[in-house]
Amino acid sequence: MTVRLAPDACPGALKVHEAVDGGLARVRVPGGYLTGQQVAALAEASGELGDGNVDLTSRGNVQLRGLRPGTADQLASALAAAGLLPSISHDTSRNVVASPLADLQEVVARIDEGICAMDPLPGRFLLGVGGSDVLSVRPDLALVDDRLVVDGRDAGAGSVAALLEAAQHFLDLRGSEWRVRELTWDRPLGDPVAVGTAPALGVHGDRVVALPPLGRLTPSVLGQLAAGPVQLTPWRQVVVPAGGDLTGLVTDPASPWVGVSACAGLACAKALRDVRADAVAAVAPGPRPLHWAGCERQCGAPAGAVVRTATAEGYR
Ligand code: SF4
Repeated sequence: MTVRLAPDACPGALKVHEAVDGGLARVRVPGGYLTGQQVAALAEASGELGDGNVDLTSRGNVQLRGLRPGTADQLASALAAAGLLPSISHDTSRNVVASPLADLQEVVARIDEGICAMDPLPGRFLLGVGGSDVLSVRPDLALVDDRLVVDGRDAGAGSVAALLEAAQHFLDLRGSEWRVRELTWDRPLGDPVAVGTAPALGVHGDRVVALPPLGRLTPSVLGQLAAGPVQLTPWRQVVVPAGGDLTGLVTDPASPWVGVSACAGLACAKALRDVRADAVAAVAPGPRPLHWAGCERQCGAPAGAVVRTATAEGYR
């Protein structure tokens, strides 16, 4: 059992963190589903209050950076008006990943509604729904192909009701724990469930899976994405209707951008170099995953990644 004296420090839409480049707000997007209007609202909020970009997270959520002091209320109002902040008390709790290309909006909406009707889950807690691909981001609880999966193990027949009941059970058990893996789950669990992988970039029927380099949606890309619905994936991809403008996005699975990530770089006080600019300048084929880190902490490095770590002299 873990004993914690403080709540988790995950940023939220209302819990804006102060970084070197200004405020950082994380907006939960259950299932990664955004309408074109919501993309436009995020772009407008970032353009007016922050640095103009929208960054994707490893849970299919988004972050706005460089927020000017005193803009928190304006941001919250803009997000609420766009339907991106339906619950003040559950700002950081609505962490739900959904399989891309699976059209699970209705199921995710029911899960989201259920989460918001119970006491807030910890900001680090994660739910998943869809196929085995979502298990690769290690959700605490998941509904995978009609099975309930608890910390990667089969827990019997699944349904939205069973998933929400398991989430409530976690709240009843948790004490100060943030994740299922930190406590003793007192219900029977079966074998580990096979873990799937992210969808390949490119065309999938009437949709395209595309990658914004380093997970950053720039103002021009946001303008394109506002034309239609978008699904953000936990692999920092976007799923968009085929036929739209994909300028600035990578759709070739053989692109050297595939598998390249970077930490916040100069937006962090600890960064020794501008790793994001250096990653752009140096992108080329090579071992993947490749992560660029501004210091020895190596934040956000994926498992098994080759990490280029900034040092006082250069890179290690
Ligand atoms: S790796 Fe270092 S520089 Fe990069 S975000 Fe983490 S602490 Fe900051």
